Amino acid sequence: MARFTDKVALITGGASGIGRATAERIVSEGGKVVIADINTELGEQVAAELGENVHFVKLDVTSEEEWDATVAETVSKFGKLDILVNNAGIGDTVPIQDTSLASWDKTIAVTQTSVFLGLKAAYEELKKTKGNSVTTSSMYGIVGSAVSGPAYQAAKGAVRLLSKNAAMAWVNDGIRVNSVHPGFIDTPILGEVDRQMLADITPMKRLGKPENIASLIAYLASDEAEFITGSEFVADGGFTAQ
Ligand code: NAD
Repeated sequence: MARFTDKVALITGGASGIGRATAERIVSEGGKVVIADINTELGEQVAAELGENVHFVKLDVTSEEEWDATVAETVSKFGKLDILVNNAGIGDTVPIQDTSLASWDKTIAVTQTSVFLGLKAAYEELKKTKGNSVTTSSMYGIVGSAVSGPAYQAAKGAVRLLSKNAAMAWVNDGIRVNSVHPGFIDTPILGEVDRQMLADITPMKRLGKPENIASLIAYLASDEAEFITGSEFVADGGFTAQ
């Protein structure tokens, strides 16, 4: 398949995990990708590995100025912007009573406010291309759990509805916006959390691979999903069906 011939995507958190797998997928189907990430070393390395159709831009997704510069650089490098994947995020795992205000504010900024800033920064370019955006939320944007900390859970719920808000606000512009809701995926964000425990509480008894989410994001970002907007898609090994 070559669903992304002549398409340009901007992927935040593209240096690692789900974002990196999504970049690989889109490039393998003919697209051009800007990987935007705060991790310059890894981002440059991944962009070099993926070839000439991938460009790295250093972006802190909490900065409105850097967002505007990243969208401008995408257009100057590849000519336009068709697809925005708002994927960067950070987790928290401590319970409410032990969460500091500083930790709450940081997680909300990186995981929630980032999506608002990204959609806002990309709007004019997505309008020109009748493009689309996919937001990486989480199954914890749908169901509650003490495995997740409060700010992560609140942020993932917020970006689920923020995506629907943008979808409705922009439906007459021809811009689609959807969210994906991964279960436990084997990436560095899991940190020190016991992976076997996460597999044990998943009905399929294993973790997902980044490619499992990349294929879903690619579907939603492609013209195959032309009638889909404001929707949420779960890929979680059965977790939320329990
Ligand atoms: P990851 O840690 O492999 O990748 C996250 C990327 O985001 C990293 O490259 C990191 O450098 C980047 N990043 C962090 N802060 C940033 C900032 N301020 N500005 C720009 N980039 C920043 O993790 P992942 O699992 O690939 O996570 C991708 C998304 O998937 C996140 O939003 C995460 O919450 C979501 N998610 C992951 C899982 C899972 O189990 N892995 C489950 C549900 C949802």
